[in-house]
Amino acid sequence: MSLVNTKKMLNKACNEGYAVGAFNVNNMEIIQSVVQAANELSSPLILQASMGARKYAGTTYLKKLVEAAESESNIPIALHLDHGESFEACKECIDSGFTSVMIDGSSLEYSKNVEITRKVVKYAHKYNVSVEAELGSLSGIEDEVKITKENSFYTDPDQAADFVKKTNVDSLAIAIGTSHGAYKFKPNQTPKLRFDILEKIQKKIPSFPLVLHGASTILPEYINEINHYGGSIQNALGIPEEELKKAAKMSISKINIDSDLRLAMTASIRKYLFQHPNKFDPREYLSEAKTSIKSLVKNKIQNVLGCAYKI
Ligand SMILES: [Zn+2]
Repeated sequence: MSLVNTKKMLNKACNEGYAVGAFNVNNMEIIQSVVQAANELSSPLILQASMGARKYAGTTYLKKLVEAAESESNIPIALHLDHGESFEACKECIDSGFTSVMIDGSSLEYSKNVEITRKVVKYAHKYNVSVEAELGSLSGIEDEVKITKENSFYTDPDQAADFVKKTNVDSLAIAIGTSHGAYKFKPNQTPKLRFDILEKIQKKIPSFPLVLHGASTILPEYINEINHYGGSIQNALGIPEEELKKAAKMSISKINIDSDLRLAMTASIRKYLFQHPNKFDPREYLSEAKTSIKSLVKNKIQNVLGCAYKI
């Protein structure tokens, strides 16, 4: 099987009431662990690269690593550009073999967002590449995308319907209360997704795949482990798994997960190096990291996203 676009997998997820996991990848270890986990559970999979990931690893390296992982798997895998910042960035990824791109015009005024999304859709569809756009903003930090809390706003359901009609986009990231990064919310704040807004949006655009960004749970077990073994991460808070499960059963068909992977990786490496101060072989502590990421991803697929055995 070769890399696929996200159209079929997200439409199926939307109609059958689960979500496909979109995991951010930066290196070989993360790619191997995520793909092995999804493969063992026969789950469709989206691997996505942000601008920061492309800067870190290089677009060609990421593409080749994902191709290698895909060749050893039996599941449909899409390689997706996360937060494409311009038409040129999207074009570059499409030309280099990505099967899906996101054009993030959410910080532009509405008509400009429509315009740039249409332009990307027109180009992408010629090459059978699917397109995700974003309407409304999330607070938080995603690599180089920074939005202050004051500027964040929820997606307007009427505007979402108009946007999809005007752009012919394949999926839409909406803002219903998630936030990028590990420091999503104030201490003691209980993160709550606005299911009332989600319901209105899915009524306006039935059977249309919606996307949730900033959807890591920031599991306390990793935070505790990091802090126990010499780290210092305070006030990190994410979206509770119960909220994500509920969203996945609705029209949320793609759920992005980045911070949870980073935390799982860091916790296991910190623990290993703390317990084995004389070790210095990267293969040893990175093997621990791979085991930890794989078990996190399996848990997400089975218990949160509901996408196990859905190929
Ligand atoms: Zn995002």
